[in-house]
Amino acid sequence: MYSEQVGLFDRVASILDLCKRMPDTMSDEEVEGLLKFLPTDSQNSIRAMLVPRFRDVSVKFLKLVAKWVHTARKAPLEGKKVIIVPFNFPPELIHAFDNACPITSEILSTLGVVALEGQGERYWDMAMGLGLPDHSCSSSTIELGSMLGSSDFRPQAIVSAAPGGCDVNAKIHEFVSNYLDIPQFFLAKIPDDSQRGHAQYSVEARKLIKSLEQFVGEELTEDKLRKVMERANRCTELHYELWDLQRARPCPVPNLFSLYLYGVRFSMWGTQDGIEMLEAMVDLAKQRLKQGAYPAPQEKARTLWCYTSYYFDFANLFNWMEESGYTHLGDGLDLYFPQPVDTSSMDSMIEGFAEAARNMPMTRQVGGQSMSGQWTEDCITAAQQLDADCVIYCGHHSCKQTWSVLSILRSEIERRTGLPMLVLQGDSWIRRMTPISVIQHEIDEFVQNVVARKEQGKRRSRKHKSIN
Ligand code: SF4
Repeated sequence: MYSEQVGLFDRVASILDLCKRMPDTMSDEEVEGLLKFLPTDSQNSIRAMLVPRFRDVSVKFLKLVAKWVHTARKAPLEGKKVIIVPFNFPPELIHAFDNACPITSEILSTLGVVALEGQGERYWDMAMGLGLPDHSCSSSTIELGSMLGSSDFRPQAIVSAAPGGCDVNAKIHEFVSNYLDIPQFFLAKIPDDSQRGHAQYSVEARKLIKSLEQFVGEELTEDKLRKVMERANRCTELHYELWDLQRARPCPVPNLFSLYLYGVRFSMWGTQDGIEMLEAMVDLAKQRLKQGAYPAPQEKARTLWCYTSYYFDFANLFNWMEESGYTHLGDGLDLYFPQPVDTSSMDSMIEGFAEAARNMPMTRQVGGQSMSGQWTEDCITAAQQLDADCVIYCGHHSCKQTWSVLSILRSEIERRTGLPMLVLQGDSWIRRMTPISVIQHEIDEFVQNVVARKEQGKRRSRKHKSIN
């Protein structure tokens, strides 16, 4: 039993200790043995990750996350600075410093939801107890609530890339910085996507690098940055290999891989571990493509989730979907469209970093000059390239940004592609909002009554045309 005062980071790190000791290939008995040690609330998600069809890749993913968390945990003892970043900040910049390491608020919250008894709800409640509004975004508030209300691990600085993208995210990081007296550095996005706006963003990125150099006490040299950017370029290649594999029908990429993909993007992008993780995902997807492997008798619907998914029960969302024939082609957090970085000079690499930061999810869409316009374009590009049959919006309760333009998104997608959209209600990180059984029911009804009928209609009209 943990005392109420133990923070999310420390509890997650203890559970991940177990993952470090797991063999790379686990038998069913070993999986059952591991599950006995885990809290009841985490069993559905960990069991879903360890299904035989992609178990080895999930073990690799758990070990990657364990290494990332433990590197941060021991960093202060080695005289290094731990810098907390939001998910929309490319962590490769921090990896390029020898004396700093990144840790991402939203990944920590997600790990808390996946791995802890109580799914991190106590830390959300701590934030509410301090008087923070209940329309805060649970993605970051669960971890930051832990930092505010318990004796949690403390980073040495915060980098916020949310100003201009999401006020909710920007303000909670700012509040934590002030409350705990931790310095904060900004990368703000102005709502101007012209050349002028891009130039301004790159000025901001250069200012941020200078501030980080001073804070970490280390010069970011061309060699160090190149090493990381070359690895980031390899991650980009692998990202697109996986994207291409997802286009096949039935989809050979397991549903949970869309989550693993951005898990790597937000933590270990630009590292050798990140590359090896993505390679393992691509290799397995290639094997499954060759075998025509799909966990259901038939792929009934290919769904693109236009913003976040739900993270409190992997078994009853990601795996339930693919076992029902519903493919999850990724969600809005996979929409960061990475580009190869020109590594010929320091200048070109900084430009490449600024471009990557501008393209991170949320910054690119929610922080776009026209939020509805950019979000629509990105969803349509993904839906068309991945051959989606429909789009699903998770209805994350605190996300006023996305709710505010959702009706535009829905009607534009329908007008331009004919794809129907399901709008759900619930909180992506808090199970108390909408039970997973309700979410399943709504997805089932939507596929059977809307997606399947549309497909039948298309088939009938093709037949009619060919007879005439
Ligand atoms: S989900 Fe919405 S509220 Fe939360 S960080 Fe993203 S844009 Fe902000």
